[in-house]
Amino acid sequence: MLNRSVKLEQIKKHLVEYYAIEDTKVLDRLGYIEAINLPPQHQKSFDFLNNERLAGTMIVVVPDDLWFKGEQPSESNAEGDVILFKQSYFESADNIAWMTHELAHCQKYKNAPEQYEQDSQTYAFQDIVGEYAYPNNIVERYTFTKQFEFLKQEGLSREEIFEMIKKEYEESDLPFFERLLDEIF
Ligand SMILES: [Zn+2]
Repeated sequence: MLNRSVKLEQIKKHLVEYYAIEDTKVLDRLGYIEAINLPPQHQKSFDFLNNERLAGTMIVVVPDDLWFKGEQPSESNAEGDVILFKQSYFESADNIAWMTHELAHCQKYKNAPEQYEQDSQTYAFQDIVGEYAYPNNIVERYTFTKQFEFLKQEGLSREEIFEMIKKEYEESDLPFFERLLDEIF
């Protein structure tokens, strides 16, 4: 196990390269929290996945004025074992469980690193093939399944989950989500 300061330096270096950060002062405005130390509303996601190998996965909290992903409140970089969250969203209740989703990305990568890139470009369901292999790919099938299973355990109904996801995605993406929900409910 690396000590925290060595690990933080590595992660900052990775962020600079991955996101082509020019002004490294930005790095001091970010929050860095290991998955095992998440606050209660997110700890539930870590507990749900029940995977010790995710304990050191780093969640980087990005102040809203530095956020660059628009409406999307989170992003995982599974190869780097890093997850980014927009600060205001990170501090919210995370009712749709994006933390479960992003941690599941890191888990999927750890399960089979050599397969991850290819799986992310391979359709999950051949009969609902659209223009892009997103979200209908093997990686997203895994991550959304974990997310929906978590929400089901939290007491949400199929309809409640579908209503939330409908607000986030295009009409043409919905058959993929319905297929996953059919498998879970
Ligand atoms: Zn995803």
